Amino acid sequence: MHAADERAAPDYALVSIEGLRKRFGDNEVLKGIDLSIGRREVVTIIGKSGSGKSTLLRCINGLEAFQEGSLRVDDQPLRHDDPRAMRQLRQHVGMIFQSFNLFPHLTAGQNVMLAPSLVKRLPKEVAHDRARKLLGRVGLGDKFDSYPDRLSGGQQQRVAIARALAMDPAVLLCDEITSALDPELVGEVLRVVEGLAEDGMTLIMVTHEMNFARKVSDRVVFMHQGKVHEMGPPEALFGDPRTAELRQFLSSLH
Ligand code: ADP
Ligand code: MG
Repeated sequence: MHAADERAAPDYALVSIEGLRKRFGDNEVLKGIDLSIGRREVVTIIGKSGSGKSTLLRCINGLEAFQEGSLRVDDQPLRHDDPRAMRQLRQHVGMIFQSFNLFPHLTAGQNVMLAPSLVKRLPKEVAHDRARKLLGRVGLGDKFDSYPDRLSGGQQQRVAIARALAMDPAVLLCDEITSALDPELVGEVLRVVEGLAEDGMTLIMVTHEMNFARKVSDRVVFMHQGKVHEMGPPEALFGDPRTAELRQFLSSLH
């Protein structure tokens, strides 16, 4: 690592990953990941398909168990043997996927209200009010009563973002959230994410939108074969890649 990485390193880690190893059967997918992410930091993970990006995000929100290493979120260690701790963790970590996964039989507003109503047991009026505000924040203030099949893909993904925010997560994980969208709908979703970054949301995202990554990220992590191969500020990674693997990956995108 070079000096620029040290400058970008956060002094307080919201997410702290040490020596993380994850296998599926004989296939070791994460081969010792060390990564700290600071409060309000925006980190983008890039790398070839199969390099372990999604698995890493899924470990961070407790969807995947891992074999070795440690993972802490907000100073709470991730413990798969402790269901109560895992429930608390999930409340602190929001995740949005490529597929929007909205409940089709619920309106946009009801989708956003559901988890806070159930988990935080918010009174209906309070949850309702918050859902309205959150839909406004993603530019869908007039869609509270619309069902998902009445919304475009870009609008559905923005509802999914509002739904994740409804739990007040300390960190939001975004896994290729624009990959399933028609090109003309990508921008509206990226603008919402950019707004969250500007508001100081801690974000860890996987994206193929390199111009966007360059613009909003504090740090970029290049994963290769289950390891962090290169890491640093976007200008360094995109402008001055150090390794042949990163150079090759970047040129494969054009
Ligand atoms: P990326 O998101 O970078 O494309 P993934 O994390 O999805 O990579 O996958 C990394 C590797 O882990 C791949 O070889 C993939 O086949 C394997 N893998 C991912 N999920 C599973 C699973 N549930 N069971 C078995 N292998 C998996
Ligand atoms: Mg993936």
